[in-house]
Amino acid sequence: MGLAEIISLPEVRASKQWDQLRQALHTRFDEWLDEVQEQLSEPTAPLSEVTETVWNLRQDLTGSLSETIVTEAHLAERSRTQAPCPQCDRLLTARAPVARTVETMVGPVELERPYFYCRSCRCGFYPFDEVLDLAPGRKQLDLQKAAARLAIELPYEEAHQVFGDLTGVNIGSERLHTLTNQVADGLTVLEVAPSRQEIEQRVAEVAAGKWRRPVVVLGIDGAFVPTCPDGARGRRPGQARYRAKQARWTGQWRDAKGFRFYLIDEHRIIHLMSWHQVQNETQLGEALRAVKEAGLIPEDEGRLCVVCDGASWIWKHVQSLFPDARQVLDYYHCAEYLHEMAKVQYGASERALEWVEATLTRLYLGKVGWVLGGLSRMQATSEEAAKAISNCWEYLNEHRDRTHYRQLRRGGYPLGSGGIEASHKFICHARLKRSGAWWYVANSNHMLALRCAKYNGTFDQVFVRHQLRLREVSE
Ligand SMILES: [Zn+2]
Repeated sequence: MGLAEIISLPEVRASKQWDQLRQALHTRFDEWLDEVQEQLSEPTAPLSEVTETVWNLRQDLTGSLSETIVTEAHLAERSRTQAPCPQCDRLLTARAPVARTVETMVGPVELERPYFYCRSCRCGFYPFDEVLDLAPGRKQLDLQKAAARLAIELPYEEAHQVFGDLTGVNIGSERLHTLTNQVADGLTVLEVAPSRQEIEQRVAEVAAGKWRRPVVVLGIDGAFVPTCPDGARGRRPGQARYRAKQARWTGQWRDAKGFRFYLIDEHRIIHLMSWHQVQNETQLGEALRAVKEAGLIPEDEGRLCVVCDGASWIWKHVQSLFPDARQVLDYYHCAEYLHEMAKVQYGASERALEWVEATLTRLYLGKVGWVLGGLSRMQATSEEAAKAISNCWEYLNEHRDRTHYRQLRRGGYPLGSGGIEASHKFICHARLKRSGAWWYVANSNHMLALRCAKYNGTFDQVFVRHQLRLREVSE
């Protein structure tokens, strides 16, 4: 007996089931063809007309095919007559089937399913919905995910338009707004962070074939986000037509503090993770601590380096969490500081420029001691200049070990904090700084968390969480 002749019973059943299913699908396809025939004036119509007709009817086809597959495949579940009550376990009898239409990326899917109700527990349920793992509400998760992806790129109204045009599914801007806030609600830094394994892999890719461990940079900084007070919620009083156009609240630019871990590969930046929120220094410190304690950063596999401007709160966190990291005072921030001091001391003159250049060169060569000595010997030209000189001395003295720029450059460390500034741009500014847009702090943080998830490569993971939360709510 040849091998080909051995066919198991489950295989026979499966192939029989597929035969039936294919037949049912062909029937649905035929019905769809009737629609096409009706809508298309002539089969000889130009291509644009043909594609327009097919485009307009495509969701009817793909939706109905999906509908046929699930209804045929779950025939037993659909015709179920008895089910135990999930609370008291009593055996219940099916009531008249109830129709439900859900919307998916491939079109509407209509389902008819038996309903069960337990009188003593006063609870009703649809076992078929559970088998199909339907999300509560009409819009299913594939749709929600695609829509959320777009809403974190474009203003809600625009996202609504583009989404409708490209998918043929209507999802209102209000709904998009609610959806994004719902998905992001309560997200923490660890929920949008990639796993250690993922980060290790990115580090290993850069390390491959090099004699030195790659530089892992931590940048910390703030960016301004336009926010409005919670009191701006709700409708303004008075009749709509007389209502003042001008808002009765004042917007406020708030600091979105964030950090970013990234790798430097020659002149390329490889993103590891970002976390930006409108938050205070303590909250940022806690988020950074969570990342550290979760062991997400493989400190032994790279050379950790922190590059920041002069803000002391930043260095406080760095010192306590990553005491072994190389610390770099942002070169450009430092240069700017020196220029300002020189302007006060020498005015906007050639001399001021000369002094700044000589000072930067000395710092570059690691001669911060000379610079400090020079500053303490400097004869102030005014009282204001004396103050500026003393501040400058304090500043350089505080950061003296962070200014050995030549040594840092040789080690392959970055001198500037361009990496964190860039992430402000693509995470905060790109979506939050839009003309006329003012954000409630909570909503701005939701948006920031989702945009971090996007760049951290964890958007899918965030949606798994969303799905689990929806399931908890519906249970
Ligand atoms: Zn019951």
